Amino acid sequence: MKYAENILETIGNTPLVKLNKVLGEDFPALVLAKVETFNPGNSVKDRMAVKMVEDAEKSGILKPGGVIIEGTSGNTGMGLALAGIVKGYKCIFVTNAKQSKEKCDILRAVGAEVIVCPTDVKPTDPRSYYSVSKRLAAETENGWYVNQYDNISNRTAHYEQTAPEIWEQTEGKLTHFVAGAGTGGTITGVGTFLKEKNPNIKNIAIDTYGSILKEYHETGILNPENAYSYITEGIGEDIIPENYDMTVIDHFEKVTDKDGAIWARKLAKEEGIFCGYSAGSAISALKQMQDTFTKDDIIVVLLHDHGSRYVAKIYNDDWMKEQGWLD
Ligand code: PMP
Repeated sequence: MKYAENILETIGNTPLVKLNKVLGEDFPALVLAKVETFNPGNSVKDRMAVKMVEDAEKSGILKPGGVIIEGTSGNTGMGLALAGIVKGYKCIFVTNAKQSKEKCDILRAVGAEVIVCPTDVKPTDPRSYYSVSKRLAAETENGWYVNQYDNISNRTAHYEQTAPEIWEQTEGKLTHFVAGAGTGGTITGVGTFLKEKNPNIKNIAIDTYGSILKEYHETGILNPENAYSYITEGIGEDIIPENYDMTVIDHFEKVTDKDGAIWARKLAKEEGIFCGYSAGSAISALKQMQDTFTKDDIIVVLLHDHGSRYVAKIYNDDWMKEQGWLD
């Protein structure tokens, strides 16, 4: 009999799928999508969630009967919840009001407690989801604050798992790696591995307007006051998390909220690949950068999460019309 011992064993080994239509016939390069929705929690974040939990167990910070506490927009929470169920930990997640209601409902469905905080407050404000999660962790007996932003096990998971899969699937032939950037774990972990294998590979991080990541990469100056709120979910930051190694990232490309939404919808309709907002931003970025690619390029674009989490937003025509993005 062939079966997994538990759901965590099914994480990883996601498929690489050629994009045939969405970028148009004139798009010069071969584009292969690493479709991370095939993970059991429907996102790439399952990988780093389990790695963070296992590393915390090994180091002794997470003890039997412990409580996993994290500020999460949902995908990391889902991965942590699966790990918590299999390994026997309770989960408390703190998120902000901007996130889709579906994401919170999904986390509650897998047994987590979810606390929603206001969106438009500075990270240092005691009401922010960063502050609330830290306070809860300090006040909860046996509480462990995961901190996916600064927890290096996040990027290590991608260095150890996601990147070698991409390298093997492309037989080392890829020329570009493209991924949305939030905590920086995906782009840094995968990007570091690829640069070690072949320094000519270009790592492109996808950012959004309102985030300070691109500005920081290009100037080295951190201006949190230049951040403003945006609608895109999962990418962009108003801080620079420890998971970044900016030296392995060649370029940051910004995509508008509107284009991210429109290109996610096109990806679903034209390729049958039903993914989230940041996947749309990544595809839109490729189109924006079309003239920089050649026919010899092989681009791997990582699609972070599943479209089901966005059915009330980008996949809802009324919501799109409210934004003025659909006639
Ligand atoms: N897209 C989505 C949907 C995400 O949830 C995240 C995680 N914040 C990202 C992209 C960015 O990934 P990372 O945090 O590894 O930079």
